[in-house]
Amino acid sequence: MRLPKKYVLKVMRVGCEPDFINMQCAAIRMLNGKNLCTPEIIPTVSGADFASVNDEEGNLRLVWVIKAKSGVCYSKIYPRPIDFIYDLGKKIGGLNKALKEFDHPYLDRDFKWNLMESNWITDYLYLITDNDRKDILIEIIEEYNSVLHKAKKLPQFAIHNDLNDYNILATSDISEGVKVSGIIDFGDMIRSPHICELAISCAYIALDQENPIKTIADLVGSYHTKNPLTELDLDLLFIFLKMRLAVSVVNSTMMSKENPDDAYITISQAPAWRFLDQKFDANMVLAKLRLACGFEVIKNANRILDYLHKNRGSFANIFQSSIEHAPMVDLSISGTALPQNPFDLRLDEAAKIGSDINADYWLGFWGEPRLIYTSQAFRSGKYNNSNRRSVHLGIDIFTNSGHKISAPLEGIVKTVENRKFHLDYGGVVILEHNNNHGDKFYSLYGHLNPSVLKKLSVGQIIEKGEIFCELGNENNNGGWAPHLHLQLSLSLECMNSNWPGVSDPDELNFWGKLCPNPASLLNLDDDKTGYKKIDKKIIQDERKSNFGGNLKLSYKNPLMFVRGWKHYLFDQMGRTYLDAYNNVPHVGHSHPRIQRIATKQLQQLNTNTRYLHPILNEFSKVILDTMPDKLSVCYFVNSGSEANELALRLARTATNGQDIITPDHGYHGNTNAAVEVSAYKFNKPNGIGCKPWVHIVDVADDYRGEFRRSDPNRASKYANLVDRALSQIKLREGKLAGFISETFPSVGGQIIPPSGYLSKVYEKIHTAGGICIADEVQTGLGRLGSFFYGFEQQNVLPDVVVLGKPIGNGHPIGVVVTTKEIAKKFDNGIEFFSTFGGSTLSCAIGVEVMKIIHDEKLQKNAFLRGESLFEGLLNLQLQHPIIGDVRGFGLFVGVELIVDNNLTPATEIAAYIVNRMREKRILIGVEGPADNILKIRPPLTIDDNDIDCIISALDECLNEVKTFTS
Ligand code: PMP
Repeated sequence: MRLPKKYVLKVMRVGCEPDFINMQCAAIRMLNGKNLCTPEIIPTVSGADFASVNDEEGNLRLVWVIKAKSGVCYSKIYPRPIDFIYDLGKKIGGLNKALKEFDHPYLDRDFKWNLMESNWITDYLYLITDNDRKDILIEIIEEYNSVLHKAKKLPQFAIHNDLNDYNILATSDISEGVKVSGIIDFGDMIRSPHICELAISCAYIALDQENPIKTIADLVGSYHTKNPLTELDLDLLFIFLKMRLAVSVVNSTMMSKENPDDAYITISQAPAWRFLDQKFDANMVLAKLRLACGFEVIKNANRILDYLHKNRGSFANIFQSSIEHAPMVDLSISGTALPQNPFDLRLDEAAKIGSDINADYWLGFWGEPRLIYTSQAFRSGKYNNSNRRSVHLGIDIFTNSGHKISAPLEGIVKTVENRKFHLDYGGVVILEHNNNHGDKFYSLYGHLNPSVLKKLSVGQIIEKGEIFCELGNENNNGGWAPHLHLQLSLSLECMNSNWPGVSDPDELNFWGKLCPNPASLLNLDDDKTGYKKIDKKIIQDERKSNFGGNLKLSYKNPLMFVRGWKHYLFDQMGRTYLDAYNNVPHVGHSHPRIQRIATKQLQQLNTNTRYLHPILNEFSKVILDTMPDKLSVCYFVNSGSEANELALRLARTATNGQDIITPDHGYHGNTNAAVEVSAYKFNKPNGIGCKPWVHIVDVADDYRGEFRRSDPNRASKYANLVDRALSQIKLREGKLAGFISETFPSVGGQIIPPSGYLSKVYEKIHTAGGICIADEVQTGLGRLGSFFYGFEQQNVLPDVVVLGKPIGNGHPIGVVVTTKEIAKKFDNGIEFFSTFGGSTLSCAIGVEVMKIIHDEKLQKNAFLRGESLFEGLLNLQLQHPIIGDVRGFGLFVGVELIVDNNLTPATEIAAYIVNRMREKRILIGVEGPADNILKIRPPLTIDDNDIDCIISALDECLNEVKTFTS
């Protein structure tokens, strides 16, 4: 009989003892109904758990059947979202809790995978030929043996004992996320302390994780909620985890000796070695595990904090007099524009911090996110958006160089050094202190005069109030304005030799606990010196209540940005994002030349077009210089919408017509007339619908539309659709005003119409007496690389060109350019005036943007980077069939995602990818009528390293998607 697929027939080895199955079946049955994703046993017809059958060689075998679980094994699941790890931790905790009630004599058999009896591997260490690796194993075994007696005193229960990545199943679904679906194979069950279960599961779950310790801590923390752990459990966990991996590599080395031709055995060791080769700081791991379970970061942390709190006010004044009234100064990312370049704090900037503050002493916050830490030592990863340490872990006290520093309480010198690197500490001293209970804690004094090295030596006792060092200056303190960096640490062990003074915001939960606010040592309140974080939730809630619901936020988990630079954005905690989406900051966010020109103009004058000013003319000249000769008259307004509004008025005044022909899915702005010609808006559910004077033609999408790339006449065929629109106008006895289109439709899906399309359309419109409007808001000003404007690629001469977004680089400017004839007809005696359009400030900024595009050769950069981007995307297309089409010019790029050969749009997947890219700190968008086209449209400053970053992140996301689709 063939069993249906959803069952598993387990055929035991010859000689298998019935108790082996009895034990598993009894445990599994006990776990049934507890929502732990454990298997279900299918009894034999006579109701037994297993049966005996003869195999083809006549050997008696025990066989049994379980219901198969859905899902794939853990090792195939990527990414492993935090919710999944929590789910798993809870399941394992629940399993151990439930198995406390279980007992079976077979649990006490001898077993080489009993982690409590793992010393047998010592006898096989000779098989490990790499001496460095052998040393690693020896160290692990020694550590294990030093704590085994403690583990032996722990209560022992039945445990699964083999929660490796093949015995955990999960389902992964784009909308449901990743969920544990099975905990299988109870064949290794034994009696053991719970800590062994956790050590084994953590050992496998952490392998090849980007941040293995975080994964372990997340798993342990969630386990703890179901089956509480003790401090002793945590002390042992990492040691046992490493021992399990040691057993695993020794065992597989033994197997590979027996089966020298089986390359797989050696390959399968690799992840375990990759883990063991990383020398994790065991103290730090323990501290993180403790925090994950809600314990103090180190033992007695609260006792130290209590002591510091109780003695607040009675410590000796570090500066010999009170600094109680010293002002706090905000050096946070949102509180200062320093440094101008968040990747490179200039020497003069570092040396001048606070030079405008008029006080004897002023203080910088503990816990404050800052962008001033720009040297490579503060950054990790190969891209500019990789992790970066930004959050200050001390308090700064700015005052004169040479100021003497006294010890707040008695201490022993632990370290005295001169750290000479740029933006490092210069002279630095660490003192060890003791509270009344004998707990040790440490204070650090940075940016000292390095002469301290001559005066102090390690082990020296410093009395309370004793002057032991003095502040350095910018020449010897790491390059900073004179100040003391005072930091507290509850442990020296986790700090290793680096003594980080600044934390990655994503690690702040740990570092903030280990290095708490040192205000007490200054006799100040924590409240005064602790930075109050911008609370994203409050900002989001306020926004929700103060604005209309259709003021949308991007991303499932919205972002808050407080700084920008070139093609990077920085959130409120200093995390760097690569902006591959925003086209408004055309020449880059916060361009220094724009900052300067805007400041200068605001200092001088900002008024309107009713007065003469050279800059107004200059702005018109720099724009007209980029246009064909016939386009020789400018109008300045405040936005793309307003510019299109004016363009429509020009067309209507010049023709006396009202009717407009426009491609489907177009967008031209948020004003009444602009919405009327924007099918992207009016055709949405609850939209205003198509007005009788508006006539839609199919967008010339030759990938998905009616006429495709295989058709050589597709340009004409799409253009001919205009004839139908013209007949409709006749039919309703209307009069054509003109044709408006985004030269390359953007919200419609980054469409590049086939060559010759627009020239044929324009010809028809002109013949019918209409005006052709080219909306270049998205495509203009060099973004396309090979062309300054999209209409050049289509080889047409529009009658009206509309510019917006990038022309002001963030300042609201819209521009309409037209012919003398049209302008003359519009000049009908009624004044054209836009209060802010063409203001002195706008014109100064607009001129500067145009000059920067030229001076920094940004059109050429768009071309070159566009080439790399395209190449990278086409390579991805070869590996990922979900990429149906890659199209665009320069840095105006669309990547169309499809599910199958019928071009079914991969809408959900596109949304997933955009959100995952956001988690990887890259901003891209999604567009198109079915929201399945990834839109990549960065500021023109982007460089090849960033393109590489986009491509590799996109590749990772597309690989993730394969786990959903396969
Ligand atoms: N035209 C096009 C092609 C646009 O993309 C936009 C804005 N996305 C507009 C006009 C309207 O510009 P604004 O939002 O500045 O009014």
